[in-house]
Amino acid sequence: LSTKLQETFKKLKGKGKINEKDLKEAMREVKLALLEADVNYKVVKSFINNVKEKSLGANVLESLTPGQQVIKIVNEELTNLMGTTESKINFSDSGVTVVMMAGLQGAGKTTMSGKLALSMRKKNKKPLLVACDIYRPAAIKQLEVVGKQIDIPVFTMGNKISAVNIAKAGVKHAKENGFNFVIIDTAGRLQIDEALMEELKDIKEEVNPSEILLVVDSMTGQDAVNVAETFDKELNITGVVLTKLDGDTRGGAALSIRQVTNKPIKFIGMGEKMSDLEVFHPDRMASRILGMGDVLSLIEKAQQSIDEKEAKHLTDKMFNNDLNFDDYLSAMEQMKKLGPLSKLMEMIPGANSKELQGIDFDEGEKQLEKTKSIIYSMTAKERKNPSLVYSSTSRKKRIAKGSGTSIQEVNRLVKGFEGMRKNMKMIKGLQKNAKKGLFGK
Ligand code: GDP
Ligand code: MG
Repeated sequence: LSTKLQETFKKLKGKGKINEKDLKEAMREVKLALLEADVNYKVVKSFINNVKEKSLGANVLESLTPGQQVIKIVNEELTNLMGTTESKINFSDSGVTVVMMAGLQGAGKTTMSGKLALSMRKKNKKPLLVACDIYRPAAIKQLEVVGKQIDIPVFTMGNKISAVNIAKAGVKHAKENGFNFVIIDTAGRLQIDEALMEELKDIKEEVNPSEILLVVDSMTGQDAVNVAETFDKELNITGVVLTKLDGDTRGGAALSIRQVTNKPIKFIGMGEKMSDLEVFHPDRMASRILGMGDVLSLIEKAQQSIDEKEAKHLTDKMFNNDLNFDDYLSAMEQMKKLGPLSKLMEMIPGANSKELQGIDFDEGEKQLEKTKSIIYSMTAKERKNPSLVYSSTSRKKRIAKGSGTSIQEVNRLVKGFEGMRKNMKMIKGLQKNAKKGLFGK
């Protein structure tokens, strides 16, 4: 599909503005991408309408084609929708934070309980796991195994006592024994049912949790909407955990859930192991949903080719010896696109920080800015005809004043520029001779 997407966006290339027809065509492909990522149909529809509105009003960036601009908006909107900041756990002021895990059977509640406990201990909390799944055979044992693995105590009372009473006793146990972070691992059902909801509501009532995290399997794209809607309505959840993203799912559930509940996705599950807790990154999820890796690189390439064209234009001019100050400015702009000098140097393999320590990059940047302001203080005519500046002291004086520099600084720029042109002339001469066969062989 992404190749299809690419083709559509290629088709849009080179057109001046986003018009309705372009947009319709591009949006059809985005719609397919979303549906393929298992985003709920209703969610797709409202999302598409939203993006259409924004795109039609938007200016097309100079460096992008309208199609690329649409993709950029789609990506931004997706990221915005899913929340732009990473989410954290709300801790209770009372000293003991209680987190309740909820969700269908097999969603990953028990696994996530362990991951959360582990990460809290790393934050110097004292976590306690409470086993409230009294229905599934071996559920308690499973939590005990998890607890043992990461060396975190598990509070159990077997399966003869109600889940509500276990939860209550668990929190009491925590308070009496110096634990300050309680994770209640609850039972799930294969489907949402009354009994499950009633039990969860009772537990909530009893322990008043700071967080109710809904755990959802990312493979359940379409169903996720119903599950999230119901759990949120009944329990007023505080956040979502999206598990099993290590599989090949496109993660459409993230968008559906977010749209329907408007609750933050706080964590994601990327495996069965008790490894680190993974934080949710909206931008990465947006790319994943759209499968946009190659579309994004397409945008990058387009950007590159523009720069290459400009670079070729510049070298051509250099060899024809009609380089002027406008070209000089443009060359500096090209360089600036690559980022600050210091960052650029860091990217060069072999240039270690020791070698870089002696260089004052800020000074280099300042110099570039100064050069630019000098050129900006020239008239358009002067920029096109550098010789006007070479020969006139009054012009140089005016430029120095306009740019807040000195006449010496203007002279230095002009001399440097003149020297460059001379060098080019020499190189050109050498090349000509080489062609004539005077050199080489
Ligand atoms: P619960 O019924 O909600 O408590 O779910 P479990 O924590 O028991 O998880 C159900 C199954 O999914 C187990 O086999 C877990 O190992 C597995 N699982 C949980 N989270 C993840 C995850 O992020 N990735 C993968 N691949 N498997 C997971
Ligand atoms: Mg479980």
